[in-house]
Amino acid sequence: MARAKKEPSGFPRGLVGFCWSFALTREATPTAPPRPARNPERADPIPHLNANTAPGRPREERRPAWPADLPGSRLEGGLDNARNNVGAPPSRKPSMEVRRGVVGRLRDAGQEETANELRRCCLYPIPGTDIQIRKGEGGGRHATGLQHCGRHLCPICHPYHQSVRRKKIEARSVKVLEEHPNAQHFLLTFTARHHAGVRWIELRKALHAVARSLQQTRRWRITIGHVRSDETTWTTKNGHHYHQHWLVTLPGGVDAHEWLTWLQDYFETRLRQHGRTAEWKDGWARPVPSAELGNVLRYQTGGIGWELTGSASKAAPWDLPPRAFAEVWETSKGCRWWSTAGCWRLSGDTDEEIEAERERQPGEVLAYVPAVVWTYLSRDTREDIHALIYDRSLDDAAFLALWRRANETLGGVLGVGPPPTA
Ligand SMILES: [Zn+2]
Repeated sequence: MARAKKEPSGFPRGLVGFCWSFALTREATPTAPPRPARNPERADPIPHLNANTAPGRPREERRPAWPADLPGSRLEGGLDNARNNVGAPPSRKPSMEVRRGVVGRLRDAGQEETANELRRCCLYPIPGTDIQIRKGEGGGRHATGLQHCGRHLCPICHPYHQSVRRKKIEARSVKVLEEHPNAQHFLLTFTARHHAGVRWIELRKALHAVARSLQQTRRWRITIGHVRSDETTWTTKNGHHYHQHWLVTLPGGVDAHEWLTWLQDYFETRLRQHGRTAEWKDGWARPVPSAELGNVLRYQTGGIGWELTGSASKAAPWDLPPRAFAEVWETSKGCRWWSTAGCWRLSGDTDEEIEAERERQPGEVLAYVPAVVWTYLSRDTREDIHALIYDRSLDDAAFLALWRRANETLGGVLGVGPPPTA
């Protein structure tokens, strides 16, 4: 079990074994002839890809390069500066570009293992499927047939999960306003006092334990529903700043001031039992007028800041400095960062459910990449293909024109239209 835990989900275990055995073979007998291929198709899947290059060159060099004038994931400027993204909604920069920046920063800081885990997302096909590029809603495109990590800290998965939730919760808010016209809404922020050096998981465990017992109390049960979203940031002075935002809906007749005072006491006492003290900033409990609900929900799903109350600044999870990022990445496996209950309860909004649904998304197939071609292309080229797919500045016609150009350079191995077997 311990071994299974170390291996990130989504990475084919056979491949790990294969790489290991390859590395060991190489080290033991550096002059040994190349290993016989286990699968002849895999060894030379696209012979004409290599036709114009000298035989005997390393495989990496024989792979065709991405056309220099096409959009790729190495866009100008890159994201070497993490601060570029602070305050911007996570979706504003192409996710591949953001990931390349984060991976680079992790490598520079010596966090090679986390960098590799993060980079595996989207690079491997789901066995038995081709990669299909489909028309998305609202003009974008998306790719199916690839393994996603589904992690909260992933610049590819997180914005996608949040946009799915945003859509669902905004639709839900119309119903909540209809069904509970007199309800009172509050945005609460729960924070445990922290200082540099405290492990992220300790803060998370303490807050989570208190939040769980809180929901079992009689007084909490008068709430009509809630939306919980967790965030984490980092400062040099105080280290990890993990906190939870709760949009809580109370019935109209309840004395909210009295209830909030009880809540604060409860939280304070319980958190102390878990070895931490609560931190209350001004505005830890902000009343949310009905007209502001949409804005707050967009804030909770990472869409935009909550300008009216001064809570506009919002950092993406990958804005953490590399060491902090690697620590959270490593220790937050399996942690949930989002939950809904009562009148706000959504179905299919967990990371797992959103991932399962992602593959079933409808949409006309514009283009495809056969799985065998995909695994043959270099990681860089695969990332460049993603960048082209997810470039929202291109309409479908412009995308297809560039796709055809890329295909010429790559030796005609990509497909236009649905794959013949689909
Ligand atoms: Zn991912």
